[in-house]
Amino acid sequence: MFCPVCNGIQSLHVRCSSCDSAIVDCGRSADLTGPYAPYAQIEDEPLLSHAPVPETLSCMHLVYCQTCKLTTEVSVMEW
Ligand SMILES: [Zn+2]
Ligand SMILES: [Zn+2]
Repeated sequence: MFCPVCNGIQSLHVRCSSCDSAIVDCGRSADLTGPYAPYAQIEDEPLLSHAPVPETLSCMHLVYCQTCKLTTEVSVMEW
């Protein structure tokens, strides 16, 4: 599974729900929210059991409407 938008195969064709103008892809929301978690941090907590994360078939992208000056999230279906 991969995101066609992240891999440059497909561009995001989304229109703003309020003003209907084309909105700009700002990249994956996961890349922009919060600092990258260092792998060392995970290794420091070997006893911590993580609940299984349900498989998501979509990649969350941040999009920005230059007309409304609003940032929203859209989910891109992964292939
Ligand atoms: Zn993506
Ligand atoms: Zn708008």
